[in-house]
Amino acid sequence: HTTLETRVPLLRDKAFINGQWVAAASGKNFDVIDPASGRVVGSVPDMDASDTTAAIQAAADAFQTWKHTTAKERSEYLRKWYDVLVKHHNDLATLITAEAGKPWKEAHGEVSYGNSFVEWFSEEARRTHGEILASPTRTKEMILIKQPIGVVALITPWNFPIAMITRKAGAALAAGCTCVVKPAEDTPLTALALAQLGEEAGLPKGVFNVVTSNRHHAPEVGKALCESPLVAGISFTGSTAVGKLLYKQSSSGVKRLALELGGNAPFIVFSSADIDKAVDGAIASKFRNCGQTCVSANRFLIQEEIFDVFVEKICSKINTLKMGYGMDHSISLGPLINTTQSHKVNTIVQDAIKKGAKVHLGAKPASSLGERFYEPTVLTNINESMMCYKEEIFGPVAVCIRQTEEEAMTIANNTRQGLAGYFFSNDIPQLWRVAKELAVGMVGINEGMISTAEAAFGGIKESGIGREGSHHGIDEFTYTKYMCFGNL
Ligand code: ADP
Repeated sequence: HTTLETRVPLLRDKAFINGQWVAAASGKNFDVIDPASGRVVGSVPDMDASDTTAAIQAAADAFQTWKHTTAKERSEYLRKWYDVLVKHHNDLATLITAEAGKPWKEAHGEVSYGNSFVEWFSEEARRTHGEILASPTRTKEMILIKQPIGVVALITPWNFPIAMITRKAGAALAAGCTCVVKPAEDTPLTALALAQLGEEAGLPKGVFNVVTSNRHHAPEVGKALCESPLVAGISFTGSTAVGKLLYKQSSSGVKRLALELGGNAPFIVFSSADIDKAVDGAIASKFRNCGQTCVSANRFLIQEEIFDVFVEKICSKINTLKMGYGMDHSISLGPLINTTQSHKVNTIVQDAIKKGAKVHLGAKPASSLGERFYEPTVLTNINESMMCYKEEIFGPVAVCIRQTEEEAMTIANNTRQGLAGYFFSNDIPQLWRVAKELAVGMVGINEGMISTAEAAFGGIKESGIGREGSHHGIDEFTYTKYMCFGNL
């Protein structure tokens, strides 16, 4: 794989602990695969609990000085990191396409989005001030200050290899915390590139550590992070099952916890909607990253009067999307991240077909492109017994359900998840009513793309705890200390 290596920039084959590039104590590495071609992009250390303990210790030592930096100093460090990231925008995008298979244009979009959190939190770092209270007593004065909680563990998924890290790490560093990042096993190279560019920007040693591990070591690395008394908080983005496990594991130490878990986003189109705009929003929400985002529309609930025309229009729009290798700039649909994921998507689709779903498009692997590619799929005739009705699909499958206005809200909220929800309507009272009624943390109203550093990202119910981005993002990494000055 030499030719590939020379093409992919910022490649590292060591993890990053205490400002040093280190191998796993066991000496073992694992390969990172390009999901489009199946080729090896690079190889990184397969670390375990002992390496994790070393990273935690490094972060704990660094915290002793980092916590004393001023807000302005932390702002400047983050700004420098941001400037270096911007300088390497193309390199980062190439790396993301190589290890995540994301189409070139989307990889560039993700780098802008990912970098924007470092920029945003470099600005927000300056505003981590507290409050002076109006004392009820003449002899006492009271203030609230914000302090960093300490070392934080950031466990991240593969679907946004840069943004899921910067959204957490930007806020953590701005607050004055130091961090140990455990990136997903499918996309550790982007995390290491972030560390490398942080090093170039002059981040002090031990402030940003990256521990890479293969899937079979993830549980012991996670356990070490959750159970270490030196770790003050865990911030996780990933599956609901792993999130629940981390919740349990970190209860013994009463750790601060932020969880951003799976969604099951409803996408409702009411009959008053502009159908063309709704179709564009549906494509953006469903087919970005080939359906592999936690805010992807999972169920299209289309009012009966416009159902047939919506299905027809979404099918013809999908037919204009080109699937293939992400480095080709004309591609808008890449592969799924790995074979486990493509088998899962096919199982969900075949289950629906067996139970009576009608196939309008796709419903099979795009085998001529490789085993991880899955054809964009549109299904109708959906019923409650189907897996696609309840489960997060995480693939390019549009499930369209015909319903009346009354049914829409019940179906939309009839799930244990509550991350994002979308609806299209031009009826003003309905806009307010539905936006307030949807049991989700984020609502796209006549809009399919809602993520930005300025906004508070997060869910309710089993979709998670806490918010990322916005000024609320920093709160996850600080605690409020009350100081009472008496006998004045
Ligand atoms: P996905 O299904 O999208 O891969 P996961 O929740 O399995 O989502 O993975 C998200 C992150 O959680 C990855 O970094 C993965 O390595 C990590 N992970 C998986 N299992 C565990 C575990 N038992 N403890 C801690 N982290 C884990």
